[in-house]
Amino acid sequence: MYQLIIFGPPGVGKGTQAQLISEKLGLSHISTGEILRKAVTEGTELGKKAKEIMDKGNLVPDDIMNGIVKEALSSCSENGFILDGYPRTVVQARALAGIFSELGFSEVRVLNLIADDGEITQRLLKRGRSDDTKETILNRLKVYYDSTAPVKEFYSEIAKDLNGVGDVEEINAILLRVIRNEA
Ligand code: AMP
Repeated sequence: MYQLIIFGPPGVGKGTQAQLISEKLGLSHISTGEILRKAVTEGTELGKKAKEIMDKGNLVPDDIMNGIVKEALSSCSENGFILDGYPRTVVQARALAGIFSELGFSEVRVLNLIADDGEITQRLLKRGRSDDTKETILNRLKVYYDSTAPVKEFYSEIAKDLNGVGDVEEINAILLRVIRNEA
């Protein structure tokens, strides 16, 4: 069973790579951003709460996110999961450690995708999602460095740094080799 977290700044390609990996290995792709965007589209209570926060590029409260992820992990594929966009704070990382131990997941690995700010800003500007305006992008990068980057320390023993810049399929091939312990 694969127990994976894909980590890195906004725009580094986490979603694209997590999607490809989940298709190839039959994993549950748990993207908290996608879950929230779906809730916004469907106009649920969660969606109403999340919309304004997401439009500004801020973070949805930890306890809400922890609940969402616990539920998703409880019913994940027997082949495993790849978490994408979570944890985004040290508080979430601590909660996740508790969820993992409750659910018996003890072989978790972190894929840490790396790209510089110039590259990811360009990519985000090209993507054109509703939270991809220049102002929101700058705030998302700030939030990343203030709140999310410290999570790296939390995972220093189980994380592997990987280059996120280049051809999508080539990067994917490297990630799959790492996941399958061939690299
Ligand atoms: P993403 O698709 O991962 O870039 O997420 C889009 C937006 O959803 C973020 O900018 C946050 O507002 C919100 N979001 C997604 N995941 C989380 C999380 N783990 N904690 C807090 N907010 C989140």
